[in-house]
Amino acid sequence: SHLLKVVLLGDGGVGKSCLMNRFVNNQFDSESYHTIGVEFLNKDITVKGEVYTLQIWDTAGQERFRSLRTPFYRGSDICILTYGVDDRKSFENLNVWKKEFVYYADVKDPTTFPFVVVGNKVDIPPNEQQITTEEAQLWCNKNGNYSFVETSAKDATNVEKAFHMAVGNWVKM
Ligand code: GDP
Ligand code: MG
Repeated sequence: SHLLKVVLLGDGGVGKSCLMNRFVNNQFDSESYHTIGVEFLNKDITVKGEVYTLQIWDTAGQERFRSLRTPFYRGSDICILTYGVDDRKSFENLNVWKKEFVYYADVKDPTTFPFVVVGNKVDIPPNEQQITTEEAQLWCNKNGNYSFVETSAKDATNVEKAFHMAVGNWVKM
């Protein structure tokens, strides 16, 4: 099988660790799932009959410590940029995360690299959401036709799909 290194980026609190926990363990348990330092978990996924082992890296609370997280970007095959649909600041910071990743992972062409944009917490009532699907889609199209999906780690909406899309993009690259 292929081993693909996936890095999960985005502001603290958007739900990266919960997305990883949902995808890998099919659980949503925000109390017990706390790790210190950059961590990764492996999970096999089958896309179009091929098995891929995803090595998923979470910044695990190091969102504020650039020097601790950036060394792990190198050699990444896929980057998932995450924001919270209820958190405009986290959406605006997608630019910052993308730039940091492009620089430290030494991405040659950011318009063709398999970025996937994930708007998490879509289970939150629409009146409490701050980012529309259209606005996020526009950002993705502007930056290079990145794949986009809205997820909920809480109720499992589209979590599997997000990782499937990521692998699909990598295959196409
Ligand atoms: P991280 O800092 O990006 O790793 O975010 P966490 O995974 O630690 O989640 C931050 C907070 O958001 C926790 O209180 C989670 O329970 C909550 N959370 C994560 N995902 C979801 C989701 O899909 N829906 C809702 N409503 N809350 C979520
Ligand atoms: Mg975390």
